[in-house]
Amino acid sequence: MVERVIPVADHRYLATLPVIPAALAAPTGHLLDRLQRPLHDLRISVTDRCNFRCSYCMPKEIFDKQYGFLPQSSLLSFEEIARLAGLFVAHGVRKIRLTGGEPLLRRDLERLVAMLADLRTVEGDPLDLTLTTNGSILAKKAAALKQAGLGRVTVSLDALDDGIFRRMNDADFPVAEVLAGIDAAERAGLGPVKINMVVKRGTNDHEIVPMARHFRDRNVALRFIEYMDVGATNGWRMDDVLPSAEVIARIGEVFPLERMPVTTVGETAERWRHAATADRPAGGEIGTISSVTKAFCHDCNRARLSTEGKLFLCLFASRGHDLRGLLRSGASDAEIAAAIGLVWQGRDDRYSELRGRAEAAAGSGERRVEMHYIGG
Ligand code: SAM
Ligand code: SF4
Ligand code: SF4
Repeated sequence: MVERVIPVADHRYLATLPVIPAALAAPTGHLLDRLQRPLHDLRISVTDRCNFRCSYCMPKEIFDKQYGFLPQSSLLSFEEIARLAGLFVAHGVRKIRLTGGEPLLRRDLERLVAMLADLRTVEGDPLDLTLTTNGSILAKKAAALKQAGLGRVTVSLDALDDGIFRRMNDADFPVAEVLAGIDAAERAGLGPVKINMVVKRGTNDHEIVPMARHFRDRNVALRFIEYMDVGATNGWRMDDVLPSAEVIARIGEVFPLERMPVTTVGETAERWRHAATADRPAGGEIGTISSVTKAFCHDCNRARLSTEGKLFLCLFASRGHDLRGLLRSGASDAEIAAAIGLVWQGRDDRYSELRGRAEAAAGSGERRVEMHYIGG
């Protein structure tokens, strides 16, 4: 059957209506793609809007008042999200991360959290249910999210210095409120909190050691993320990337670190922790996510569902699979599950491993999807 290519509602990205196979194979919980990678992890973007304008993600010059964000009618409803999530879980998904845009801007998000918390993996266990947030309204929401069934949160924090933080979020948002959000999440039982810092050389790299110092004695996992060439709007240059090896070297000059063992397959972070010294016990965890200098595509078990229900198989994809189209066409669960199965089985994406090589450079000529639209 020939796939039909249709532009999405806002004409920004192409999407293909997935094929429903003639024979509907029921999900087995063990789905492998063409590179033998299982489907374990689903990221769901619940809004394409954000109250920050981080230059590496939603630069102000492009995402201004004129920018056409998705209309409400384009978004998947909570019922649609939960229905799709259930089908992904039947295919073997164990971990769901809510993201965006800024997920806490989506009204009544707790209701969706409660619906997802009811799902069980194929083994009968609760999902690992998490959320990534810029932390700006976390202090207000942490207790309700926990009560709805959220397991953990990841908070993005690019600097401790208030001036640098305000410049990086480009919304003049004070760092103290994000720090209060992290504290509130811990108090609510949403820990251990993960903290993501995107490192941009010359912009916030001098905050690496202060961040390591600040969180040294806290039960948080600090993650340093290499600035990525995701999307088409952030003006990425390799010169702006500070390799993870340098991050660890800089911290190691000040604090002794020890390597932590790998605990799960597909773990994207390499992990260390503050080693014990004569005057203090071992401290908090430090991880690096080296998407640019040490690609981990061979273990990538992650699918992404955009705000309007397009399935993306890679952060660097330019084309999605229109699951909302299937949902709203009246397809049955069995049909949608079989279509998802077929899409994943056809997956061979490994952009970061090819980055810089002729294949990636040539690309498809199509515009790459933006991070705030499919979520990080
Ligand atoms: N608004 C939420 C937040 O900032 O945590 C959730 C969405 S945001 C797109 C998810 C993660 O992607 C954040 O930790 C952010 O720092 C990261 N991110 C965005 N653009 C990036 C880029 N170009 N390179 C590396 N990480 C990026
Ligand atoms: Fe918003 Fe998160 Fe993107 Fe920053 S990284 S602009 S907080 S979506
Ligand atoms: Fe996964 Fe694509 Fe990132 Fe590789 S580049 S790790 S396939 S999302």
